[in-house]
Amino acid sequence: VWSNCLKIIKDIVEWQHFKTWFEPINPVELKENVLMIQVPSQFFYEYLEEHYVNLLAKTLKRELGKEARLEYRIMVDSGNTNGRNGSMDVPASGMKTYNNNEMNFPLVIDNPVKNPFVIPGLKKMQIDPQLNQMYTFDSFIEGDCNRVARRAGKTVAEKPGANSFNPLVIYGGVGLGKTHLAQAIGNDVKRMHPGKVVLYVSSEKFINQFQDHSRNNAINDFIHFYQLIDVLIIDDVQFFSRAEKSQDAFFAIFNHLHQSGKQLVLTSDKAPKDLDGMQERLLSRFRWGLSADLQVPDYETRIEILERKMKNDGLDMPKEVVKYVAYNINTNVRELEGALISLLAQSSLNKKDIDVELAKKVLRNFVKTSSKEITIDAIQKMVCEYFDVPYDKLLQKTRKREIVQARQITMYLAKAFTKNSLKTIGEHFGGRDHTTVIHSCQTVKDLMDTDSIFRENVMELTQKVQLAAM
Ligand code: ADP
Ligand code: MG
Repeated sequence: VWSNCLKIIKDIVEWQHFKTWFEPINPVELKENVLMIQVPSQFFYEYLEEHYVNLLAKTLKRELGKEARLEYRIMVDSGNTNGRNGSMDVPASGMKTYNNNEMNFPLVIDNPVKNPFVIPGLKKMQIDPQLNQMYTFDSFIEGDCNRVARRAGKTVAEKPGANSFNPLVIYGGVGLGKTHLAQAIGNDVKRMHPGKVVLYVSSEKFINQFQDHSRNNAINDFIHFYQLIDVLIIDDVQFFSRAEKSQDAFFAIFNHLHQSGKQLVLTSDKAPKDLDGMQERLLSRFRWGLSADLQVPDYETRIEILERKMKNDGLDMPKEVVKYVAYNINTNVRELEGALISLLAQSSLNKKDIDVELAKKVLRNFVKTSSKEITIDAIQKMVCEYFDVPYDKLLQKTRKREIVQARQITMYLAKAFTKNSLKTIGEHFGGRDHTTVIHSCQTVKDLMDTDSIFRENVMELTQKVQLAAM
């Protein structure tokens, strides 16, 4: 029956389309007037329904009579995105994405899609937005580091396409929350506008799909698919730099969506102006909207992120440990979370409570261990330069507040970053004794808790010393 149908179809549709959309179909079962066919993907099924439903209906009715019905079975790829013949890895709709790494053969979903012969035009494409529900605005802590980007994201989610942030480009270094924020926008659109077609896709995936379609001479299908989307989120667009042809497709999609009032959200690890290898015509379009950056969160925000994370996961640890971790991990949020997880793992492994001692041990693996031993003299120089304090004043018995604080901070840093004894450190400050050093370190810690400018100074200096010790 199926091969008869194919003969008819072959004469009607273009050869290339026939190859792409009909050859990959496997007839599986014929029960009375119901033919079950197996298709390579959910997308494939959707596409057939969108474009060929009438043709399929007609030909099948010719073969099986008026009551003919068609059922689909969807084969799901085992995570191998570099497509087999004709298989499209455009996100599947309405169903889970099956990802079975152990199996290298296609998986058959047991309950077939029972949706024969829908009247075209009535059915809107159902596209799984590929969103992770965990990434929400609520769980994305706001700080100075991300305020603009987060607020712009909220606006975009409220009025997708109908705001002046189109495209919204979110950029920033690794682990600073680009993916989280981009996904939060998608999730919020879905929550507030359930009818909108949202799709999150990484640029790598976009490029892979494009190349698959390009090999199958189906670039137009690829572009048409993307043009159906209301809110398109593309993560890590910097990877487009080395994919010239994909940029062309993206350009076409971008223009179509933008003109139709659809929303684009892009993320990048660099500011758009620094995206080497990106076509100027794309970059100029990025400027139509808003580019907002994500910075490393400051100390307070880091504490808040840790506390929120602990609360969400039902965890608890002493405030001083939270502070210790937040203070010492100042690279990015991913490392902050990594440190927290290691800490919990170590604590449960060794059946030990989490305290600062344990944190110190665990964080040794995170904070880059100095390969160079930095000297007390070097730290003194750095602090003097930073506060613009003359070196000899640091050693004398001046009681001027700025000098006293600079001296205390220097001692504190010397204690933290050198292996010198308290006694030796004291000697480097005009022969003070070790109790003075202890007192200084304590004062610095206390002031950091209460004085935010002071704390920022110390943290900035800490970074300088860390860099110098690398
Ligand atoms: P990027 O995509 O920029 O590399 P991610 O979005 O993957 O970074 O973020 C890394 C981790 O840090 C994720 O687990 C994310 O949830 C978390 N994260 C980043 N920024 C924040 C924030 N402001 N509040 C809470 N969690 C955050
Ligand atoms: Mg990311």
